[in-house]
Amino acid sequence: MDSLQTSIQQPGETKSTTIQSMPAQPTLTAKKRVVIAGSGFGGLRVAEKLRKNCEKSIEIIVIDSADCHTFAPALYSVATGETSAQAVCEPLSVIYIRKGIKYIQEKIVNIDVKKKIVSTKKYKKLNKNDKATNTIPYDFLVLAVGSEVNFYGIKGIQKNAFSLKTKEDAAAIYKHLQKVIATMQDKQFHRLVVLGGGVTGVELACELKDHLDNVCMQNNIPREKFSVMLIQAVDHLVPGFPAKVQKFCEHYMAEHGIELRVDSPVVQAKRQLLILKSREIIKADTVIWAGGIKANRLLGSVEVEQDEYGVKVNSYLQSVSNQNIYAVGDCMNYNDQKTGKRALKTAQNALHQANVVAENICKATKGRDDFASYRPKETPVLISLGKKMGLFIWKNFWFRGYWMMKMKDYIEKEYMWKIRL
Ligand SMILES: Cc1cc2nc3c(=O)[nH]c(=O)nc-3n(C[C@H](O)[C@H](O)[C@H](O)COP(=O)(O)OP(=O)(O)OC[C@H]3O[C@@H](n4cnc5c(N)ncnc54)[C@H](O)[C@@H]3O)c2cc1C
Repeated sequence: MDSLQTSIQQPGETKSTTIQSMPAQPTLTAKKRVVIAGSGFGGLRVAEKLRKNCEKSIEIIVIDSADCHTFAPALYSVATGETSAQAVCEPLSVIYIRKGIKYIQEKIVNIDVKKKIVSTKKYKKLNKNDKATNTIPYDFLVLAVGSEVNFYGIKGIQKNAFSLKTKEDAAAIYKHLQKVIATMQDKQFHRLVVLGGGVTGVELACELKDHLDNVCMQNNIPREKFSVMLIQAVDHLVPGFPAKVQKFCEHYMAEHGIELRVDSPVVQAKRQLLILKSREIIKADTVIWAGGIKANRLLGSVEVEQDEYGVKVNSYLQSVSNQNIYAVGDCMNYNDQKTGKRALKTAQNALHQANVVAENICKATKGRDDFASYRPKETPVLISLGKKMGLFIWKNFWFRGYWMMKMKDYIEKEYMWKIRL
């Protein structure tokens, strides 16, 4: 890491970067530097594709504050301990050493788009004269910093609820569950409440229910000591999916003993209590928030056109206000002119967008302008409803059954296996 940091030229010294007050295409003579901010699904895929198809004409630097690449769709099962954190995380240092790509594990604190410089906060100062920040100039920047949890300003939620966004969140839930189970003997009743009935909330509630079935059986704990409840603000689960899928989820969960409350927005959380808009008060010993995401706060300091959904991009996935900046995944906002729909914030879309971004940056560094256009695809979605049921949904078709759940499991394993190659 240190040798990498010292090898990074400072803005005044860089040969490849022309620092200008207005965004412009870089000069096309020297090797161009592409800085990738964030190495989740989108950032890692851009780096891999550039490395494979464009390496000779560019220098790639990836920056991420996390120590590992996480397969977030499997976090619900890390939260219950059914899957280990190691199974769904791969250290970024290992990934990038294997791929021969420069990687810096530091938090990006500022991006100056006029000077084309990314500033990061160092984890360790080498000595007392060492600066606390690093500055890394770029010719092209890929914003792939993802999203963060949105608590929608609901009073008390952030303080009184767990969330499920990172492997650390999943580990915190697991640790808490272990403690609850270990101290259960002298407690009468424990209700776990999942807030949010999108895919993440539904999957988590089903997984928790199956996990508690097993734990109670193995430890001779009466099952009725635990209950799992899911509270959804609107009047249906998994918004955006066909009505039949929504109904099936509702019936399946209710049939399997999950308490469901739809059309029940929560307005306040207190210690072990939730207050609904209807003024009903619900006892909630453990609360897990799965209610939504918002743009990464870093974007607030980046001078590119954006709104609450992220950085606005054109069909080349370039920032609409700066042609040297591209954005992928959860941190970008692409509005399909044909359908008027925004691209969904999913791992599959981030991967698809990353392919387009890598192709276009590669062309730009070679002075070509026959850029690829992003066409949003309706990709199949798999939803797991615990250990025995899964759903496969593609457009208006859907299938259900044990093997759909297994397919989701297989996709996780295949993805992790591939990034470990
Ligand atoms: C619990 C859960 C379940 C999900 N299930 C599914 C599913 O079943 N199917 C599906 O398609 N999608 C699913 N998603 C959504 C999917 O994970 C995201 O859409 C996807 O991760 C977006 O990819 P990304 O590259 O934009 O961002 P991310 O994968 O979130 O990566 C962003 C990266 O940026 C880094 N970063 C952020 N800020 C900084 C900073 N200031 N400095 C340096 N680095 C920074 C982060 O450390 C992270 O590594 C799920 C998400 C969650 C949380």
